[in-house]
Formats: sequence, C-alpha cells, structure tokens
Amino acid sequence: MSSPIQLTNIIDGKAVTGSSDKIRTVLNPSTGEVVAELTESTIEDADRAVAAARAAFPAWSAKTPGERSQILHELANLLEANLDELAHLETIDAGKPTTAATGDELPGIVAAFRHFAGAGRTLAAQAAGEFVAGNTSFVRREPLGVVLGITPWNFPLWQAVWKLAPALVAGNTVVIKPAELTPIATTRFAELAQQLLPAGVLNVVHGKGSVVGDHLVRHPEVNLVSFTGSTAAGQRIAEAAGATPKRLVLELGGNAPVVIYDDIDLEAALPILTNGILFNAGQECMSATRLLVSEKIHDRFVEALAASLAATEIGDAADASTVLGPLISEGQRARVAELVDRLPAHARVVTGGKAVDGPGYFYEATLIDGLQQDDELVQEEIFGPVATVQTFTDEADALAKANAVEQGLAASVWTRDIGRALRNVNAIESGVVWVNNHMAVGPEGPLGGFKGSGYGKEGGAAGLEEFTRVKQVIVSLS
Ligand code: NAD
Repeated sequence: MSSPIQLTNIIDGKAVTGSSDKIRTVLNPSTGEVVAELTESTIEDADRAVAAARAAFPAWSAKTPGERSQILHELANLLEANLDELAHLETIDAGKPTTAATGDELPGIVAAFRHFAGAGRTLAAQAAGEFVAGNTSFVRREPLGVVLGITPWNFPLWQAVWKLAPALVAGNTVVIKPAELTPIATTRFAELAQQLLPAGVLNVVHGKGSVVGDHLVRHPEVNLVSFTGSTAAGQRIAEAAGATPKRLVLELGGNAPVVIYDDIDLEAALPILTNGILFNAGQECMSATRLLVSEKIHDRFVEALAASLAATEIGDAADASTVLGPLISEGQRARVAELVDRLPAHARVVTGGKAVDGPGYFYEATLIDGLQQDDELVQEEIFGPVATVQTFTDEADALAKANAVEQGLAASVWTRDIGRALRNVNAIESGVVWVNNHMAVGPEGPLGGFKGSGYGKEGGAAGLEEFTRVKQVIVSLS
C-alpha cells in the first residue's frame, strides 16, 4: 500500500497546512484503507481564505469577459490533460467506478468548463430602451464579489466545478469548502489551477461543516453561498446566512418519482432505469429511486427490473468490470441498511437487501415492492442502490403519489403517449423532468430543485446569472 496523499488548503495561490492540531484521514470506500491525510483548518484559516479572495476580486473582476473566458478554456485543457489522474483520485476517494469516472464524469466536468467559458462572454441583460420619457435605460450584470462553494461527497469535483466555473467567468473570486469525506480531487485540481489563475482567485479550505463551513457562511465578506448537500444542512445554512445579507443557492436532497405507464418501451427503458438506480451506488440526488408503476404492467415490470439489477457487476471501484461500486462510508451503508431492515410488513424485498461481506462499504442492488406513500422508504431520500415500487390505478393517482413527498428535484415519465407525457410534465412539481429517459444532463440546461429540494439553479444561463447582480442605469437624454 502506498503512503497517504498529503493534502493542504490552497490559500492565496499557496499550499498551506491547516493550523489546528487535528489530523483527518480519508478512506478508500472500496477497501477501507487510508488514502489521504490533512490537518483540519481553523476559523482563522477560513478568514485567510476569504481575505485572499477579497483582495483578488478587484483585478479579477476588471478583466474582460473574453480574458476570463480564455483562462477558463485553458483550465478545461489542463483538466483534460490530467483527466486520468483526477479520475483515479475520484475512484479511490469517492468510490467512482473507473468506467464512470473516465467515461462520463470527468469528461462531463471538462464540458462544463467549456460551456461556462463560452456562456460567460454572452451574459444577456434586458434590452436598453427609453422606458422613462427623456431618459434611456440599460441593465448591467456585475459580479457579486466572493463566492463560497460548499460541496457534498457524492460528486466532489463535479460539484466544485459547477460552482467555481460560472462564478469565476462572471468575475467573482471563490472559496471552496469540500466535503470532509472526499477532499482529494478538488484539492489536486485547485493546485493545478494555480498555474493559470492569479493568486487568491480560487481558494480551497478544508474543515468540518459545522465549524469552518458555518463560519464561512456567516462571514460578512462572503457575498453568495452556493451549497449542495443534505436538506438538513441546507436549512442550517439558510439560518446562518441570514446573519449578514448575502445571496444563497441551495441544491438539496431529491427523491425522484419514476412514473411507469403500461405503454412503456420496456426493453429500451431497462438499462436506463438500472443505471438511474445504481449510478454512483444510488448516492445521486436525481437517482431513479421511487418507481410508480401502473398496476396493469406491475408484475412484468418488477420481474424484468429485478433481473436487470441482480445481474449488475459489484466490486472494487478500481476494477474495470465494476458497475456498482461501494457506498461512501460505513455510516452511509449502515443508514441504508437500517432503512431497509425497518421494512413494513406489507412490503417485500424482491432482490438484494443486504450489505456485502468483506472490506469496503458495499450494498447489494436492491428492489423493494409493495410500498405505500407514507412509508419511510418512500418519504426519505435513501441515497443507496435501492429502488422502491408502488402501484397506481390511473393518471391522477400516479401524479398525486409523484408529488406527495417533500422533495422536488427530478422526475421521469415513461409512456409513448405524447399528450399524457406532457400533462405529466406540467403536473409534476420538480426542477427536472425527463420523458422516456432518466439522468442524462448537460451543462447547457439548468438544474435545481423545487419545494424541499432547494432554490436557485446550477447550469444553463440561469445557473450563470445566479453569480451576477443586476444594476439598472437610467441616463437623462437632456
Ligand atoms: P451534507 O449536507 O452532510 O454536507 C454537504 C457539505 O456541507 C459538506 O461540505 C459539509 O461539510 C457541509 N456542511 C454541513 N453542515 C454545514 C453547516 N452547518 N454549515 C456549513 N457547511 C456545512 O451532505 P452530503 O451528505 O455531503 O451530501 C449528500 C446530500 O447532497 C444528499 O442529500 C444529496 O441529495 C445532496 N445533493 C444534492 C444535489 C442537487 O443538485 N440538488 C447534488 C448532489 C447532492
């Protein structure tokens, strides 16, 4: 076993060790082995990161959009040149199967950089006009100042980039606070990025969410907090952010309904749904977790999906054949196992339902049938390789069940009837709805939840505009 990677904060262009006396170890979820170490930061370290970002803001925001865009394109190229190393770090840190890390996830991050690099040059504002007689008006979009990005452990580098790329191209400077469990790839990328960015433009500070994260959220010099994580932490952050006026984007938990009508093209749907349930071991806010199935097709559907899930290759994320990797930690696996073990008497496990023996935090691909709307497994975000099945009688019943949860992040509808598909799209209260697909996203489109899943957008034009403020200018023509 090689010695652990030593991680530091990145503050003002330099690698700086945290100044507490606490060492944190980072584990490979496939093996339980220590893969990295860092010294926890203090709130003074966090203050230094914000001060560096604040000092870098005037010069960075004064660059033209074209100049910032060019640097982002170069960052995309740098990321691409180091893609294999970063993908490997996501595999040993977050348990991403190699196939996902190099096939989908890291190239997707490069694509996001390129999207934001381009979009940053064409930020739109309202057309200028003579709205007040004798005056002409126009609108400026300006950067906000210092942006704080707080990221979760399930998509460490992806989430960091969807925050820092739009923030930077719009002219802000950035502090990222990575999740405690998965700090490696974000730190490595930030180290590399210092070759291209002026000191202080991008800073990374490690620390506990409830200490360093909370301090940063309350910091008066932070102008916007972009948070992705659990609904519970999001609520605490919203309260803390209220202490000083600042903008907030909250990307919180999901609990996606997957509405299966009897005219589904089952053969085409099965691989998409299997991936939708098992992608990132189900630790995905848009996971296809809550299957609502027409009673007309229920038996055939459940049998086919269970067979597809049971056939999935499970193993060390570093093995090329692995499709279903580990959960992030022993604690996360125990949480999923407890939810399944508390199964109500009216439900049954069709396939899976157990932890896998041996090192690492593996859990079987699991399908549970016979659930009812008020059951804990339906109402909670499971965040593991587990899908639940409920039946519905008609369209109204399906839509009522789809919407009767707190979350509203993602959903999918499966039917070949276009009118029914569009009625469902209109009625489902969620920020993303797929028709005959699930999970496919690109950086050009906006993502973000309704209801308990938060507010604000990431991606698309809306996700870029979040990082700007609008100023109206009215000029007398006399
Ligand atoms: P988490 O809420 O435990 O932690 C997320 C981050 O917030 C971490 O960096 C943590 O240190 C920090 N944090 C925690 N408490 C804090 C506080 N009081 N103040 C400041 N920072 C604090 O979430 P997690 O377990 O890492 O991530 C999983 C969750 O993220 C799931 O609920 C998932 O659905 C959600 N998620 C949502 C989206 C989306 O786009 N809506 C995307 C990915 C993940």
